[in-house]
Amino acid sequence: MVVILKENPNKTQLDSLVSWLQAKGIEIHPTVGVHQTILGLVGDTSSIDIDLLNALDIVEDVKRIQEPYKNANRKFHPQDSVIKVGNTAIGGGSLTLIAGPCSVESEDQIISVAKSVKASGATILRGGAFKPRTSPYSFQGLRGEGIRLLKLAKEETGLPIVTEIMDASQLDLFDDVDMIQVGARNMQNFELLKLLGTVDKPILLKRGLSATYEELLMSAEYIMAGGNMNVVLCERGIRTFETYTRNTMDVSAVPVLKKLSHLPVIVDPSHSAGRSALVAPLSCAAVAAGADGLIIEVHNDPEHALCDGPQSLRPEAFESLAKKLQIIHETCWINEEEVG
Ligand code: PEP
Ligand code: MN
Repeated sequence: MVVILKENPNKTQLDSLVSWLQAKGIEIHPTVGVHQTILGLVGDTSSIDIDLLNALDIVEDVKRIQEPYKNANRKFHPQDSVIKVGNTAIGGGSLTLIAGPCSVESEDQIISVAKSVKASGATILRGGAFKPRTSPYSFQGLRGEGIRLLKLAKEETGLPIVTEIMDASQLDLFDDVDMIQVGARNMQNFELLKLLGTVDKPILLKRGLSATYEELLMSAEYIMAGGNMNVVLCERGIRTFETYTRNTMDVSAVPVLKKLSHLPVIVDPSHSAGRSALVAPLSCAAVAAGADGLIIEVHNDPEHALCDGPQSLRPEAFESLAKKLQIIHETCWINEEEVG
């Protein structure tokens, strides 16, 4: 980090800034110019509040040279992380397909979808039990009962399960859940992230609706700073001026996040597109960009789905897409030496 001081800084204020930084274990290397002095800060500056420094009377500007995230940073962990989820793993060269309905609706529905996506090559079953809906009048999910039905589908098929947590108070219900999803709307629920940092389960962290890469990585950092290193990042489309699609899938997120971080990166083409016809091309694009996996909504009866039917694939469409994706993955996956 570099701190540029204003001309003729007040000596008392400067001494107190220097001792405050030194007390944090930071070495200071000043460069004194004719008009300006620059302080080069060497050491772990991740705990320094850049806005606070900027607000000081004697400070002209502050520039960060190193990213503020440490645990998630590829610089300190060059090898790709491989995250174990039940009997499978995400990252490290395989293409993980997570599939299932937007919401768990009934025992028949979740078991039938689980069986068909497994037969097509999915290795993790998704299904929402707690649903973050824009309207309070929309279906809110089967909650605890939804998790019970997901467990039945897991027993029936052997597929590990991933489902979304919306609040810390729900955590006790997640004992038998293999991977906990943090949805886009909760990406910056820092208290929830801190709690998940203490949990011994992998976390699927979705990008917020208008979050930058750095904000997503700082949210991963919250979980990792608590000791839970098992985080998978998910690009799920961001808000743009376009209204034709539900969101805009940011395909650049894949190579950029893989360059900046060692964590696996997966893509959700369903919430990006909002339209089932776009799910296959967007999936192909994500895998061609080097994604470690995809999370795709699949429903046995999309017309009657209680949530996100228009973006859900039928099991047959998922089956043919899955075959194509493996071929693209073999050619396009980016290993840790190629991340740029
Ligand atoms: C979901 O995956 O069910 C979901 C609600 O996704 P997102 O948080 O990305 O909107
Ligand atoms: Mn959905």
